[in-house]
Amino acid sequence: MPIPVYTHPDCLKHDPGSGHPEASARLRAVLERLGRESAVALMEAEPAALTSLRAVHRESYLATLEGLSAKGGGALFLDTILSRDSWAAALGASGAALAATNHAIIRRSHAFAAIRPPGHHALSGKGMGFCLLNNVVIAVRHAQAAGLKQVLIIDWDVHHGNGTQALVETDSTVRYVSLHQYPWYPGTGAANERGVGNVFNVPRGPGKPRSLYVGDLWAAIIAAVTDWKPDLVLISAGFDAMAGDPLGGFTLEPEDFAEWTTRLRKQLPSTPIVGMMEGGYVPERLAEGVVAHLRALE
Ligand SMILES: [Zn+2]
Repeated sequence: MPIPVYTHPDCLKHDPGSGHPEASARLRAVLERLGRESAVALMEAEPAALTSLRAVHRESYLATLEGLSAKGGGALFLDTILSRDSWAAALGASGAALAATNHAIIRRSHAFAAIRPPGHHALSGKGMGFCLLNNVVIAVRHAQAAGLKQVLIIDWDVHHGNGTQALVETDSTVRYVSLHQYPWYPGTGAANERGVGNVFNVPRGPGKPRSLYVGDLWAAIIAAVTDWKPDLVLISAGFDAMAGDPLGGFTLEPEDFAEWTTRLRKQLPSTPIVGMMEGGYVPERLAEGVVAHLRALE
């Protein structure tokens, strides 16, 4: 059965400015590639409802995002920049993440969200590092409201998901496993940051052999799921950990994401897996990574 991939056309309209690495060309390359992929069914999601966002984000922050977009955009924080369509894009991205999660909850099968802007750096009341809304934690709260008891988040983006960690680190029903370059942006993600025992950080230096990154993330996943069975796996699927990415120094190839995906399916055969796009700044490489992950999910 083809894997449903949810997206929203407004995701292409968010424009942080010319020369900004988080460009619409990224998602355009992914969608073009997926359009030629028989293993994939592309679907348009509804924008997220505000009630879903309020489970994670402060009301005042949401109002700031909406208001700044309505005024034509501007810098929210350092390199977190909004344009007129950024609020609509963020709602579309979260909506697609929620639609993919709903598919997993209802059909008990895998799905993916092809989205931008990304989410894992976003805090409750602050956007950071190209991220406006924390899509993966919005999906977690939705799944919990639907009755799922335990959710595993795997974050293989080359950057640490500081926002995700901050939002779940006191919730023992959620486990967060992250492989990331360290020390590197955003500075968090040391191995001794353990939350309430539910955070599994795998900080590593750049330029190591691929097999080291693959093996070390897998060991952390096994540690997280030993005697703890998730009802849902959400993947913060960044592809900036691939060799040649301008924003990271890892050495991964598309087959490595396929390898993790295949191992996850074997390890947790009855648990649905939902991937959602985070980083990845060489558009063609990002598309290759997404396709490798999806073919392993099919
Ligand atoms: Zn990243």
